[in-house]
Amino acid sequence: LTVLRELTDIMIKRHPDFSTSEALPIIDPHVFHKRHLKRMRDLGAGHFGKVTLYLYDPANDGTGECVAVKSLKQESGHVPDGWIEEIKILKLLDHGNIVKYKGCCTELGGQVMQLIMEYLPLGSLQEYLPKRKVGLPRCLMFAQQICQGMDYLHTKRYVHRDLAARNVLVENDRLVKIGDFGLTKYIPEGEIYYRVREEGASPVYWYAIECLKEGKFSFSSDIWSFGVTLYEVLTHCEPRRSPLYKEMNVGVAPMTVMALIELLERNRRLPCPNECPHAVKMIMEQCWSGDPAKRPTFESLTKAFQDIGQ
Ligand code: ADP
Ligand code: MG
Repeated sequence: LTVLRELTDIMIKRHPDFSTSEALPIIDPHVFHKRHLKRMRDLGAGHFGKVTLYLYDPANDGTGECVAVKSLKQESGHVPDGWIEEIKILKLLDHGNIVKYKGCCTELGGQVMQLIMEYLPLGSLQEYLPKRKVGLPRCLMFAQQICQGMDYLHTKRYVHRDLAARNVLVENDRLVKIGDFGLTKYIPEGEIYYRVREEGASPVYWYAIECLKEGKFSFSSDIWSFGVTLYEVLTHCEPRRSPLYKEMNVGVAPMTVMALIELLERNRRLPCPNECPHAVKMIMEQCWSGDPAKRPTFESLTKAFQDIGQ
């Protein structure tokens, strides 16, 4: 009853229309109350976010559901522009190969929002693949699912800008979903790219050459990153074969962006993994074409993986 009264008070405060006596409070399933969130463990952290597993347990008897909660790393200070945008974008997306938005939680009295998503128990491909013997057919099935999720994202005119194994989440051994929309941008109808000069750390080893040189992010630059993600999947995300490691001089400082651009301009690319079939090697090469117009689309890639799988 106290909870109901509290809720009614909140509704009345937010919507003066509900102040009439016959109005019943509407419980919004997308609003999560901090007091019912029980922290279980950390799931991972990236650029400015951290993700934690919570049990949402309003009945307070351990029967609640597990949810993944993404929040900003430094809770005080300024809120990056991208943060609210990330929540808004995920809210709009609805696809079987994209992590599902569940709701928001606003700290009591505070302004910082937390993003509540479905929890994917097997973590990212980066955690999942090295520990298991995943055969080629399943690697290609994951690749196809990534293409399906990305094709959907592109039809909604969003470029992801951070497609990588660390941002692909694993539901079970037959299903992966794309996550981390922290860098995602909308490309208005009629435009081709989003231009940005990033300060700070960027995932440069996943970036297409035109992103490094001119800060031009397009549907085609996501295709390049997909090629790198495909490389990661086929090398089972083994740290010693990671694209990052490959391009670094061991023991010396990591190579500069200038040096990386020079390498790519000389048409040097990541090596094709040994176990990679010829058709997949061709796909990888097309994804890394220096000319964005020559790269495939996620629609054509979905079809290509389907054909390879048959
Ligand atoms: P960042 O923007 O900081 O990179 P991510 O959204 O990529 O944050 O999340 C960081 C890590 O947390 C991921 O690489 C993954 O290991 C883990 N993670 C994120 N979302 C989930 C989820 N819904 N279920 C399980 N693990 C997750
Ligand atoms: Mg991430």
